[in-house]
Amino acid sequence: MVDRSDDASCLLGLAGLAVERVVLTVLGMKIVQVVTDDPDAARCPSCQVCSTSGKDWVLTRPRDLPCGGEFLVVQWRKRRWRCRTEDCPRGSFTEQVAQVPAGMRTTTRLRAALAVAVEDGRDQSEVAAAHRVSWPTVQRAVVARGAAELVEPEPVRVLGMDETRFGRPRWLPDGVHADGRIRWVRTDPWETGFVDITGEQSLLGQVDGRTSAAVQAWLAARSPEFRAGIEVVVIDPHAGYAAAVRAALPDAAIAVDHFHLIMLANKAVTAVRQRVTRDLLGRRGRKIDPAWANRRLLLRGRERLSQAALARMWNGCVDHDPSGQILSAWIAKEELRALCATAARGGHPGEIRDRLYAFYQWSADAQIPELTTLAETIETWWPAIEVFLATGLTNARTEGTNRLIKQVKRAACGFRNRENYRRRVRLHCTRRIRRLSARNPTVPA
Ligand SMILES: [Zn+2]
Repeated sequence: MVDRSDDASCLLGLAGLAVERVVLTVLGMKIVQVVTDDPDAARCPSCQVCSTSGKDWVLTRPRDLPCGGEFLVVQWRKRRWRCRTEDCPRGSFTEQVAQVPAGMRTTTRLRAALAVAVEDGRDQSEVAAAHRVSWPTVQRAVVARGAAELVEPEPVRVLGMDETRFGRPRWLPDGVHADGRIRWVRTDPWETGFVDITGEQSLLGQVDGRTSAAVQAWLAARSPEFRAGIEVVVIDPHAGYAAAVRAALPDAAIAVDHFHLIMLANKAVTAVRQRVTRDLLGRRGRKIDPAWANRRLLLRGRERLSQAALARMWNGCVDHDPSGQILSAWIAKEELRALCATAARGGHPGEIRDRLYAFYQWSADAQIPELTTLAETIETWWPAIEVFLATGLTNARTEGTNRLIKQVKRAACGFRNRENYRRRVRLHCTRRIRRLSARNPTVPA
């Protein structure tokens, strides 16, 4: 047995293997010949008894990380042992150490490095080339890491849901009609991501589509403790999500960021302006039209307009829109903003109720279809807005996760396999906190 504290073995750093000699070939390649230096290597994997009956020798060349920037050829001459234990089903076995398990042609530390490189957002082909291994080898390492690291999410208090687009919609053949024509189905280019908003778990999972059924299926696949632990769900104003939450999490409150509603109000102002211009001029707005020139001022908040800009916008609307609809829409938008501002600074409930009533009244009296729709939408989502204003919980973290998802997609230049894509995205999104909790046990995993 070789003393494993010798310098060369120490430099190579493969526990359980000792360097016997290093051969430099004429091509400049270093061949490191190693021997077993682990008494447990002769332990039968079936019955755990150490064998002393050698059968023959096997030469294996596990791929390893570069040593000092150089790729070495590691040659391990290992024994095949007979198992002499009675009743043990295994006749013989080869030695194995933690860094080179039986049947593996790569070292454990190489596979870990491959998976971490991909997890950090590097392209899988590039990682394969850099480590001189094949793409499937990297893929197997990533799959193994995903299986070990991506565990079922812990219960969360605040769940965020957000939609992301997964490529373009495609038409795929799906069987044949009775009359022989091919049946085509459109793939759903959307997917929904679930995010831990207040905890440290980042991306909890993803599902295809953004329908109520898709979200409910994901929630149903979680544990009862997970569903019971959710107090608030933060969503975009999307009816499918709200329906799923009401069905699957009847006790959870829904929160919607009022920012989305102000965006809808701005859209309504633009829709009114475009319709009025078409009605008046019989065409779309152009640069020379005063209403068109005002289009940006109309979307700016009242408090961010100078006195002169406000006068220009106001007079432009009065002079060039005899129907007064553009100004009505703008006032409705400003009423809504004032309402949200009042609620956001924790205004008196009576004051909020009065402002809400003023907004509804104004929108109803205006008799403008776009404002009627807006008021209906606000009415639908107001309770969720109030939850948002009371808790201050936003989808900001979900949107941060979307940025990470885009990084992974960009690095990979697209994915054909969604399972691969999901694994890579979740590994990438959760890597920081998994590593933190591995280093520091006080941080909850
Ligand atoms: Zn055995």
